[in-house]
Amino acid sequence: MTYIGRFAPSPTGLLHFGSLLAALAGYLDARAHQGRWLLRIEDLDPPREYPTARLQIPRTLADFGLHWDGDILFQSDRLRHYQTALDQLHQQQRAYRCDCSRKQIQQRSGTTVYDGHCRQQPPTTETASAWRAITDDASTAFDDGVQGPQRCQLSEGGDFVIKRKDGLFAYQLAVVVDDAFQQISHIVRGCDLLEETHRQLHLQQQLGFAQPYYSHIPVASNGVGQKLSKQNLAQPLDNSRPVPQLIEALHFLGQQPPPELHDASLDELLSWAATHWHQAQIPRQPAIIWEP
Ligand code: GLU
Ligand code: ZN
Repeated sequence: MTYIGRFAPSPTGLLHFGSLLAALAGYLDARAHQGRWLLRIEDLDPPREYPTARLQIPRTLADFGLHWDGDILFQSDRLRHYQTALDQLHQQQRAYRCDCSRKQIQQRSGTTVYDGHCRQQPPTTETASAWRAITDDASTAFDDGVQGPQRCQLSEGGDFVIKRKDGLFAYQLAVVVDDAFQQISHIVRGCDLLEETHRQLHLQQQLGFAQPYYSHIPVASNGVGQKLSKQNLAQPLDNSRPVPQLIEALHFLGQQPPPELHDASLDELLSWAATHWHQAQIPRQPAIIWEP
């Protein structure tokens, strides 16, 4: 089988240790399988974009020796394909318009879970509406490469948004369309997206796309149990000293780089890591505390 992996950061900030874990695990898994590893910038949300991130993310990856194959794919160039997928779901009666506000949903159902209101009573005007994908009672299941068997009753989370009221496409739809377009066979990413995978499997089934093989690695969390993210101001990576940060990331991922590698060059370190990559050694935990 041809292995095609990818790294798909959103340019909402600079890469930090948490992003390095996903990039490194994806890169090594692809290299260990003699596969390709693609870079996709998920720039779906211009208001949330960090001004220099689209330039700096590729530069940081290159400085860390994580060279991707082929051209970078930008989601902002792909909007018409997301619209085509949405049209298809609409034609199949698997998606509908919804103009409910978060407050209305909360008032009706007492939770943030969408109650299907607009499926029964579609918005009458052409006023701004979101689009939601219909979930059904079927459960989705997959076998995660790190976390093991996963199962979920999608309808419990309610019909979910695939295009927002402000006209922006939702991550869920775009990621599925692009994983199919780029023929991604293996997805390695953080456990923060484990639950979202069920929604993605659901859309893949509706749209007739192949299902990639998923592996969700633990996320780095700070001492108070929050995932490291741009929002809680995780320090950006230091491009001037990639080797020690890569070694730290390898330990976090359960790999055992020998001490002599501390003095290795970037290429030596990464080629050791690809040769000795053992996915089975990645801890089977959703999160691990990490203190820099
Ligand atoms: N763009 C998403 C993020 O940065 C990741 C998408 C994915 O790997 O599926 O969180
Ligand atoms: Zn609604």
